[in-house]
Amino acid sequence: VTADFRASVRSALAGAGLAPRPAGGRTTFLGAGTDDLSAGRAFLAALAEGGWAVPTWPVAAGGLGLDAEHAAVVNQELAAFDVPDLYPFMVGLALVGPTLLTHGSAEQQRRWLPAIRDGSQIWCQLFSEPDAGSDLAGLTTRAVRDDDGGDEAGGWRVTGQKVWSSRAHYSRWGLLLARTDPSVPKHRGITAFAIDMTVPGVVVRPLRQMNGDAHFNQVFLDDAPVADADRIGPVGGGWAVAITTLMHERGALGPGAGGPSRRQLLALAAAADPVARQRLAGVVSRLEVGRWTQSRVREGSGAKLRGSATVKAMADLAVDLLGPAGMLDPHGEWQTLFLTAPSLSIRGGTDEIQRNIVGERVLGLPPEPRPDKEVPFDQVPRP
Ligand SMILES: Cc1cc2nc3c(=O)[nH]c(=O)nc-3n(C[C@H](O)[C@H](O)[C@H](O)COP(=O)(O)OP(=O)(O)OC[C@H]3O[C@@H](n4cnc5c(N)ncnc54)[C@H](O)[C@@H]3O)c2cc1C
Repeated sequence: VTADFRASVRSALAGAGLAPRPAGGRTTFLGAGTDDLSAGRAFLAALAEGGWAVPTWPVAAGGLGLDAEHAAVVNQELAAFDVPDLYPFMVGLALVGPTLLTHGSAEQQRRWLPAIRDGSQIWCQLFSEPDAGSDLAGLTTRAVRDDDGGDEAGGWRVTGQKVWSSRAHYSRWGLLLARTDPSVPKHRGITAFAIDMTVPGVVVRPLRQMNGDAHFNQVFLDDAPVADADRIGPVGGGWAVAITTLMHERGALGPGAGGPSRRQLLALAAAADPVARQRLAGVVSRLEVGRWTQSRVREGSGAKLRGSATVKAMADLAVDLLGPAGMLDPHGEWQTLFLTAPSLSIRGGTDEIQRNIVGERVLGLPPEPRPDKEVPFDQVPRP
């Protein structure tokens, strides 16, 4: 990446009408502790025309067509401005958008991408179910053909339950996985859809998290209609769609999630005893190793594992250094981070699942036994 490129980004952003970052300004960690949507919406609307919020999307889709290195420069330069909490928009910007660019039709891309880019429509990811998380392909939400519904191509009716659906309570659309053919093995009978969250038959109930937020939800689907025009990819091709989304999710949950900075941690540790300083050196080493590895390999599962461990170590150390004050301020940045960081080892696939992926796909170790893989889904014994 050349200095000229950085300079051209800097000068273009200077003219985008964004407010500069206030000194000592606080950033949220993965949107924890706030429910404000308006600032994020205004920010994305200001960036939409220039494609700055989605630098890796193709130019025809409203992006800048940049590779990851050049896009990283755009993000670094954007950090000079007062960037609000964009996490509510991230399922759309970082997961659904790229998934639609791979699997959506040209018509679907035209219909959905602009409102994702400018923040006017929020999306959620309706994948996990009470009995299908790590074993996502075991999902049981059903979509059945409804030839009288939808458009000329007919439609579908969806019944089942999703859970842990982040931001579903203010989403307009959900990227939904549903089983359309239980008579074939589990990965082959799933289809992906976009479901309008405002249709009758969709009920969203928020769940409270241990950091105090109610940012994820139960979603009940009761004969909810979906037009065939809102099917993403072929019938039975939903697993490929899911894999694309999950790959983007692992990458998105790597470094750069906001929250208190390394500089703030160093300031806290300035007067610390030698034992704490030893821990600090460990955390800083992890941060550096993570950064260097990130620039050397593009592999989402390893990056997610390293990122989760580092953030947890940072938060643990900070709360210890703060002493009782670290636990007494419910809105403190470090306390919010401390109470949010454990979720990193679960969301987007647990640590154990990431290790399985690294073991099997990166290191080429023998695969886990998967006895139900080739068995028709309706013949797999279930409790
Ligand atoms: C903050 C947060 C936000 C989330 N947002 C969303 C969202 O927007 N949309 C969505 O669809 N989902 C979302 N999730 C759900 C998340 O993807 C699941 O929680 C996750 O995939 C784990 O599934 P599970 O909770 O069913 O746990 P389970 O799969 O039941 O796992 C339980 C335990 O068993 C371990 N385990 C399971 N299988 C194996 C194995 N094969 N080998 C070794 N260990 C194993 C797991 O690692 C875990 O420790 C969110 C979760 C969190 C915490």
